[in-house]
Amino acid sequence: MNTLDVIKAKNPGEPEFCQAVSEVAEYVLPFIEQNPKYKQFKIFERMAEPERVIMFKVPWVDDKGEIQINRGFRVQLNSAIGPYKGGLRLHPTVTLSVLKFLAFEQVLKNSLTGLPMGGGKGGSDFDPKGKSDSEVMRFCQSFMTELYRHIGHNLDIPAGDIGVGKREIGFLFGQYKRLKNEFTGVLTGKGNEWGGSLIRPEATGYGLIYFMEAILKSNNSSFENKVITISGSGNVAQFAVEKAIQYGAKVVTLSDSNGYIYDESGITTEKLAFVTELKDVKRGRIKEYIEKYPEAKYFEGKKPWDIKCDIALPCATQNELDENDAKLLIANGCKFVGEGANMPCTAEAATVFKSKKIPFAPGKAANAGGVAVSGLEMTQNSLRYSWSKEKVDQRLKGIMMEIYNTCVKYGTEADGYVNYERGANIGGFVKVAEAMIDQGVV
Ligand code: NDP
Repeated sequence: MNTLDVIKAKNPGEPEFCQAVSEVAEYVLPFIEQNPKYKQFKIFERMAEPERVIMFKVPWVDDKGEIQINRGFRVQLNSAIGPYKGGLRLHPTVTLSVLKFLAFEQVLKNSLTGLPMGGGKGGSDFDPKGKSDSEVMRFCQSFMTELYRHIGHNLDIPAGDIGVGKREIGFLFGQYKRLKNEFTGVLTGKGNEWGGSLIRPEATGYGLIYFMEAILKSNNSSFENKVITISGSGNVAQFAVEKAIQYGAKVVTLSDSNGYIYDESGITTEKLAFVTELKDVKRGRIKEYIEKYPEAKYFEGKKPWDIKCDIALPCATQNELDENDAKLLIANGCKFVGEGANMPCTAEAATVFKSKKIPFAPGKAANAGGVAVSGLEMTQNSLRYSWSKEKVDQRLKGIMMEIYNTCVKYGTEADGYVNYERGANIGGFVKVAEAMIDQGVV
């Protein structure tokens, strides 16, 4: 059996994890063949095995007094270049396979940022939708009552992801502080008043737009007057819309797991403020957009990829854009694709884009802005100091440009087409591999 088949056989019933490993293997295994020292030290095989997986029971009592039981996880995948770092996801679709795929991607992403962070990911199958604030708090407290033993500001520093925003980070941090009786930067994405970094909420969406701007520029183009379709309506989507509007583009779609809205005239700053309030405060659904803006249309159970656009930015979840969607986007004139979410395009969709020479920015590069600013939050916490908005934004832009340059360095093909996937995978791999060799067989 070849390396990939061995890994697949070792992880049966974990389709997302095997998908992520296969996508990376496509580029990294041939690179290893050309660089035999990585083969000798079995770096790829070792990277595909988490250093530690913690799985635990999360019991809590709902508002009716009924006992609920969820399952919690933390996957500590690789700590070669720094303490484990990666978000917590609260969503009913969370499984060990999903978190292992996210942790695996996170290792390479964190390496690309140039900051000293290893990779991890965690979460639970708890669904925050429809739960009261008190229920979310009781869940978060129970979750942290086990997790606190396994994390720490020099060991593993979780952050937010789907279903985990400022509210959840607050509840988790409060419980950690109570249990440990210490105030440390153990989580990122904290409120500004208690150790959070300015620009952290904006970072993933802004970083995506900075990365895409570099791609557009290298193709003698810009965001000016471009039509963009975006999926999702959470943290990443909202700030991608904000920055895209600032750069002169017109964003026409947003979605959630129930359907999408199409606003042909474009989502303005005022309309975006409505979405932010709707999603973050009222915790409503995207279809309520058309009650406020009746000129827009809502499509139940559909994804926004049948809408004509110049640029598509999937910002919701994994495997939300498949081969047929990719073909439809291209047929409708889409010329650039950037992943705001993690692995939103299936492998087949990514192949369609690359075969048509569409610049395609993979999530581990294009959405690395979030973890990059989390890294800057850790630095500020260690210094016990806060940097200005301008300074953090400037550092974010600088990091996104460095990632872009790494992708170009390792991803430029003979005809000049930049395969950003190849660039990101090899660029991220080399640093981790070198650190693993230096540290021996551990
Ligand atoms: P949020 O929870 O803020 O928003 C997620 C959005 O995606 C919601 O609109 C949600 O709709 C939708 N969504 C979630 N699951 C599904 C699903 N199974 N099918 C369809 N739609 C779905 O999360 P974020 O914006 O933080 O995260 C979005 C993506 O970006 C994820 O892939 C995440 O891993 C990635 N990411 C996030 C970073 C961050 O800093 N937050 C950093 C890097 C990557 P609904 O409300 O219906 O669930």
